[in-house]
Amino acid sequence: MGKLLIVGTMAFDAIETPFGKTGRILGGAGTYIGLAASQFKIDSAIVSVVGDDFPQSYMDILNNKNIDLTGVEVVKGGKTFFWEGKYHNDLNSRDTLATELNTLADFSPVVSNDYTDADIVMLGNLHPTIQLSVINQMEKRPKLIVLDTMNFWMDNAWDELITVISKIDVITINDEEARQLTSEYSLVKAAAKIQEMGPKYVVIKKGEHGALLFHKDNIFFAPALPLEEVFDPTGAGDTFAGGFAGYLTEARNISFESMKNAIIHGSNLASFCVEKFGTERMVNLKKSEIDTRLTQFKKLTQFNIELT
Ligand code: AMP
Repeated sequence: MGKLLIVGTMAFDAIETPFGKTGRILGGAGTYIGLAASQFKIDSAIVSVVGDDFPQSYMDILNNKNIDLTGVEVVKGGKTFFWEGKYHNDLNSRDTLATELNTLADFSPVVSNDYTDADIVMLGNLHPTIQLSVINQMEKRPKLIVLDTMNFWMDNAWDELITVISKIDVITINDEEARQLTSEYSLVKAAAKIQEMGPKYVVIKKGEHGALLFHKDNIFFAPALPLEEVFDPTGAGDTFAGGFAGYLTEARNISFESMKNAIIHGSNLASFCVEKFGTERMVNLKKSEIDTRLTQFKKLTQFNIELT
């Protein structure tokens, strides 16, 4: 089986959307990526850090999905990373109300020996120095390194971010962040500039408006599935990334054509994530539900046009 190494936050989140408000619940980019990737026939492991305030029941949620957690450091007396966000009425934009790095501030990731030969590395949204440290621990160059990031790191660790971006193969980033990274309004120009910075493949996420994949002169677009119920978009981007990387790890085929399928799988899984608060929907998701929705995706995007 293909091996996927995931690096990302395991967190407490507090979320407010127009439909309600949560207390501190399970969140974190690593958590969402892991849950999404666990839908594929792969071996996966998360490298992360939490404090000893992180409940065993949260660890069990990931353990039960067969995700290797030996690379999750538990800091005695430490506090787990905390993020608080409030969504606007359109649910496509949000304000970050708090980001408390806590144990993440001094985290030195350690990749266990079993995963230094991982086929694919998924660097979740995290301090770029941590992302870089994981790349440097790999015993051989992975077949693919995927990186997700956000404006927080552009604002707080620009130079380090540019360095890690120069060493990866695929970046997943949202439209506003792509513009911030390149100072280009056109996403086509932004994607071209990002490819000059390192990654050969650029995935630009546009929330409920889908995702674009750029590679040289090729562009592929996948819509997001129009949904009746959207409660909480938190983690949708990470779920997308987890589905993308999980699919490619199982498929063992890294090409533009294979990445198109990876985008569809990522979008499909993200469509479930937003239906309930936090990780709830992803934890209980069934294979049959995933397959049914993949069929809907196919119908949504397939057409026959006669070109004369
Ligand atoms: P997404 O909605 O896909 O952007 O991801 C939301 C998740 O990212 C939440 O569960 C947060 O815990 C986590 N998160 C938010 N800000 C950061 C940050 N600066 N670094 C790492 N993870 C973060």
